[in-house]
Amino acid sequence: MNEVTPQPTLLIVDDEPANLHVLARLMRDEYRIVVANCGGKALELAGGGMKPDLILLDVQMPDIDGFEVCRLLKEEPATSSIPVIFVTARDSSGDEEAGFALGAVDYVSKPFQPALVRARVRTHMRLKQKTDLLERFALLDGLTDIPNRRSFEDHSEREFRRAERDRLPLSVIMMDIDNFKPYNDHYGHGPGDDCLRRVARTLTRVAGRPRDIIARYGGEEFVALLPSTDVSGAAELAEQFRSAVESLGIPHEYSDAGKVVTLSLGVSTMSALEDRHDSEKLGELLARADTALYEAKKLGKNRVCCA
Ligand code: GH3
Ligand code: MG
Ligand code: MG
Repeated sequence: MNEVTPQPTLLIVDDEPANLHVLARLMRDEYRIVVANCGGKALELAGGGMKPDLILLDVQMPDIDGFEVCRLLKEEPATSSIPVIFVTARDSSGDEEAGFALGAVDYVSKPFQPALVRARVRTHMRLKQKTDLLERFALLDGLTDIPNRRSFEDHSEREFRRAERDRLPLSVIMMDIDNFKPYNDHYGHGPGDDCLRRVARTLTRVAGRPRDIIARYGGEEFVALLPSTDVSGAAELAEQFRSAVESLGIPHEYSDAGKVVTLSLGVSTMSALEDRHDSEKLGELLARADTALYEAKKLGKNRVCCA
């Protein structure tokens, strides 16, 4: 991952402006601070676009109290994984127990002990960031930084069910770099890796729709999952993939398919009208794309075949 990690965001929720100020001042060097002075505002902010990494949540507030805010946050999938640290006024173990039962990760008590508050926030912020990274890595291919096979399988099962339910077409394109073994043998593994990255980036750029998925399926194989795309749309996109990779102009002196790196592609589509009682259909869709890809190889590579 090349991008710079942005400063993590801390949402502070307290009905008393004085408390907001103290806490914000304590944390502002390390985090991007967002504040809310009531429960309703906190829910609105957390559920909106700003996605806090952690929430410091006052228990006692006049509109919706902290416990209720926490319960609502945990109920909503979009916000359920945001760690909550309760801020309790009384040093009552009852409050603390209730908070943990609702899914809070920790609590701090008022009046604040600055070093303690900072340490607790820092610990949970670090944990949150590590969890986020793990999740990201588990779904991304380490070499190309695009979705990996597991991620593709998750998506394709979901999209397959959706396509069945809504009676929409679903297409798959299997792609394999031509003569990649001689490329590696002659240019080396490092340039081979670079080539894979460039191809991955190119395919991702060409696939335009938000729900299209391009994944690395295996060594030099990629796959595209195209929801709501019929056979002609998929064939057209496959041709754009083919031509975009060829146009990269990556020299390949040892290919039997041209002077540059090229792709062979196999397209298969589940049409909107097909009878779909067979639960093996997703596997079948992939197998048909694979057969079409094999056909493209047999016909001379650097081409698209449709199942
Ligand atoms: P075809 O045109 O029929 O597809 O032949 P090919 O040489 O592309 O296919 P083959 O399956 O024989 O070889 C695939 C090669 O891809 C083998 C390996 O050297 C290379 N490869 C697989 N994964 C990686 C990788 O992660 N990095 C690099 N550099 N090379 C890889
Ligand atoms: Mg291969
Ligand atoms: Mg190959």
